[in-house]
Amino acid sequence: MRLESKLPEPEQGVDTRFLADWSGLTRGIPASLYRPRSVEEVSAILQHCNEQGRPVTIQGGLTGLAGGAVPADGDVAINLERMNAIEHIDELEGVMTVQAGATLLAVQEAAARAGWYFPIDLGARGSCQVGGNAATNAGGDRVVRYGTMRDSVLGVEAVLADGTVLSSLTRLVKNSAGLDLRFLFIGSEGTLGVITRLQLRLQPVPAPAVTAFAAAADTNALARLLRTLKRAPGVDLIAFEFMSGEFVRAGARLANQSCPLGDDYPWYVLIESAERRQDAGFSSLQQALEKTLEEGDILDCALSASLTDTEDFWRIRHSIPELMTELKPTVNFDCGLPWVEMEGFVDRVNAAMHERYPGATHLFFGHMGDNNIHLMSGPHRSEDMHDVEERVYAELRGRDGTISAEHGIGFIKKPYLGYTRNAAELAILRQLKAVFDPKNILNPGRVLD
Ligand SMILES: Cc1cc2nc3c(=O)[nH]c(=O)nc-3n(C[C@H](O)[C@H](O)[C@H](O)COP(=O)(O)OP(=O)(O)OC[C@H]3O[C@@H](n4cnc5c(N)ncnc54)[C@H](O)[C@@H]3O)c2cc1C
Repeated sequence: MRLESKLPEPEQGVDTRFLADWSGLTRGIPASLYRPRSVEEVSAILQHCNEQGRPVTIQGGLTGLAGGAVPADGDVAINLERMNAIEHIDELEGVMTVQAGATLLAVQEAAARAGWYFPIDLGARGSCQVGGNAATNAGGDRVVRYGTMRDSVLGVEAVLADGTVLSSLTRLVKNSAGLDLRFLFIGSEGTLGVITRLQLRLQPVPAPAVTAFAAAADTNALARLLRTLKRAPGVDLIAFEFMSGEFVRAGARLANQSCPLGDDYPWYVLIESAERRQDAGFSSLQQALEKTLEEGDILDCALSASLTDTEDFWRIRHSIPELMTELKPTVNFDCGLPWVEMEGFVDRVNAAMHERYPGATHLFFGHMGDNNIHLMSGPHRSEDMHDVEERVYAELRGRDGTISAEHGIGFIKKPYLGYTRNAAELAILRQLKAVFDPKNILNPGRVLD
């Protein structure tokens, strides 16, 4: 469908907040910035850019860690922040229609007001946009229970490079009438179209969480604990966030917290189970943890006794912005690996990093239930960044892993895409790009060359 709309006026002078994301990458100053208010305006802008062959940078909340939303000199930047309406909530079925520029927090709050729950959650919730979450197929802290953004999106409306509005805004859970086009845009990082509207699947509000902090000797023990908790009767696991001892010690210091357990264990995990406490306040999670403690898979554990405890536990896990500031310039990894490969990966990478970069700090953490292990390493000189990346990605090769479990490829991880995707996959991805965007105006240079 083509929409008729007047091309809006671009803004004069681009504020510096539109020049970089959280990756720290900067590339230049766009020639113009548009902050459209409607899909009609997005369509008119893209039609104009396509005719002129102008490169377009698409921006959500600019919290990305792969540099995908960072504009280059002379680009046309389109930021979706003004298209932020929560348009409709079907309270009977739990479906939300929302414009792509709404922040994740606004979506969570609107769902809660309607008696539902939106399960995607991440530290950047106040700034990142649901369009950006869809474009990167964001994960976050609840994937172990609810899946990634892909599992929460029922329908997508997107504007293609030539201004065509492709509405695939179905709100049905099942639809086998041909290929499901929404999945082309989820995880496409702005290379196939501008996502303008989403139908989101809401969930029943979970029972209040029982929260625990546990310590373990290694990631193999954490994997066994995770398996136990997934199978434990009465435990409904909604978070399993593991952190190295170094991460917890540094995060607690920066968040002005004391570690909930002794602070000299090698590994920790923050666990949440959505369950109603049994009589006498005893929870299924507590029972399962006590058994695991006896068996020796965990070394110690503490249960949250209050909302304040729970917030304190999460403050340590969410100390990422403070850590990034303290350790900058950092290299941030977003690897994915089968559980069975994690211990070896951590040991080899840790040894390599400490040997080559003894003056830097190397912090491991992540979402084990989603196979996702992050490493934040820094500070590094810019001339060393490539070597740091090579050393870490070399350890992923041939191990059934991914170089990006949830942040996307953007610019920063593009040189390493071939470590994760085979030649046939890359060829199909290139062909798809050529079909959707033959003049290569949408986010050029991201994901693929
Ligand atoms: C403190 C912190 C914690 C984080 N934790 C997590 C985490 O737990 N899990 C996780 O997955 N990520 C996490 N991130 C990364 C980031 O928040 C996510 O990648 C998020 O989904 C990006 O959304 P955004 O709106 O900020 O997108 P941006 O950074 O603006 O853009 C990201 C990419 O999507 C494209 N894009 C944005 N909007 C659209 C649109 N409407 N249509 C088409 N393309 C678009 C951009 O061109 C770019 O390529 C974290 C970041 C920070 C700073």
